[in-house]
Amino acid sequence: MTTTQPDVAPNEQAQSFLSRDVHHLLIDGQRFAAASGETLTTTNPSTGEVLARFAAGGASDVDRAVLAARKAFNGPWSTWTPYERQALLTRIAQVLDEKFEELIQIEAMDMGAPLSRLRNTKPALMKMLSFFTSQATSISGETLMNGIPGNVTTMTLKAPVGVIGGIIPWNGPLNSQFWIIGAVLASGCTAVLKPASEASLSVLRVAEILLEAGTPAGVINVVTGSGSSAGHALAAHPDVDRIAFTGSTETGRRIIEASTVNIKKLQLELGGKSADIICSDADLDKAVPGAAMGVFANSGQICFAGTRVLVQRPIVEEFTRRLLEFMETLRVGNSLDDNATMGPVISENQLDSVLSYIDIGRNEGAELLMGGQRLGGDFENGYFMQPSVFGGVTNKMRIAREEIFGPVLSIMPFDDVDEAIAIANDSEYGLGGAVWSENLSTALRVVHGVHTGTMWVNCYGYIDPLVGFSGTKLSGYGSKGTTAHMDNYLYTKSVYVQL
Ligand code: NAD
Repeated sequence: MTTTQPDVAPNEQAQSFLSRDVHHLLIDGQRFAAASGETLTTTNPSTGEVLARFAAGGASDVDRAVLAARKAFNGPWSTWTPYERQALLTRIAQVLDEKFEELIQIEAMDMGAPLSRLRNTKPALMKMLSFFTSQATSISGETLMNGIPGNVTTMTLKAPVGVIGGIIPWNGPLNSQFWIIGAVLASGCTAVLKPASEASLSVLRVAEILLEAGTPAGVINVVTGSGSSAGHALAAHPDVDRIAFTGSTETGRRIIEASTVNIKKLQLELGGKSADIICSDADLDKAVPGAAMGVFANSGQICFAGTRVLVQRPIVEEFTRRLLEFMETLRVGNSLDDNATMGPVISENQLDSVLSYIDIGRNEGAELLMGGQRLGGDFENGYFMQPSVFGGVTNKMRIAREEIFGPVLSIMPFDDVDEAIAIANDSEYGLGGAVWSENLSTALRVVHGVHTGTMWVNCYGYIDPLVGFSGTKLSGYGSKGTTAHMDNYLYTKSVYVQL
């Protein structure tokens, strides 16, 4: 690992947005202070300095936003044809294309992902928009046969469900908000978005861009604030029809409880502890960087990070040597530094939590092979952590069972494929996972054997909305991507027509 901390500054457009005194709530196309007048601050994780101040929305702000979303749902927006909604999504894609650099600079400073990584996310964002643009004109029910005497025609219609509450995590809000926004605009729903208080800015800026692109006021509203206040109020609101939530399993449980007030259907994408299985016949030229970046991308703050790296015993030594060599090529640095490949973690709290797992791992008997420390010197004010590797990890250890959500990789030896599958399945979570093998039969045996929502073979981390992505067990339910995603935003009406 090398480090880099030159003088860096955001571009003019990002700077102009960031220099506002307070970032207000965005409700019904207008900016408002929180009803309480209270604000929160967000910190640049690369420097530890306050980056911006934003409204601390609470229950009455959520009420106001839900009212605006309901009014918009029942207003002229409900008469837009699928073609009109499709044209809106096309315009939004064009504007995002033009403003992408500004948005990633805001995102980099707000949540710490390096620009090099964020630039690479552009094709994924554009693909997502393209997917939802096509979905706007693809919603369909069925004409069904029936056994009713007489001349009765029967069919199902798909209709937009209403107001969506979108609760967004901090680990990549610029892209992840579009799983909600895209489906809302394609289906004809409306939404109130609640970004994470650690990283709200790209969601606020995108909401403004959506208005500029012609989205009617009230269709997408944003209430910033804490999870326990604004988030809880949204999840418990009786006039919110569905919740789309991405975040931790613990918060997912609270949202399920809150949703009982009006039996909201939920789309929950939760935590993970995914197994990345490296068989002895794997092509290590690909498996080593693939497994490493399956953990260290976004400083390990990815729900499907393959943090349990299961390596077949005959190649443990060679894999480990090559992994440590590869890690020398990682460049940790300020998120605005074009040369950085790994940024800080999101906050001091998160850094403390990740460092505590280093102690836990050591005390459990795992061998720390690299890293394990906070960066000092030029980096001491930011939340930088050395990318870290533990060897000799067993699946009973807490570092193999709990989601660390930081740049910590555990190497876990196994003897045969059945054992690897058993270890992979010995987890409360079931989100991602991968197998690396030159033998397709072996690879598919693992694919069929591992109880998880998504599996990659000889690669890690591809997500395509046409293919989808989902979880099982404590990793949640409700797919992202494919028509199953759209179904979370629609309900089915059965229609009987006596002719
Ligand atoms: P988090 O659960 O702390 O917060 C997520 C969102 O929920 C934030 O907007 C937060 O303000 C809000 N929130 C918190 N308490 C709430 C409450 N009581 N009611 C309603 N909303 C509340 O998660 P995080 O720390 O922002 O993100 C990290 C977690 O998210 C990790 O566990 C990670 O695995 C998971 N994640 C999962 C996916 C996925 O697709 N499965 C993707 C990204 C992140």
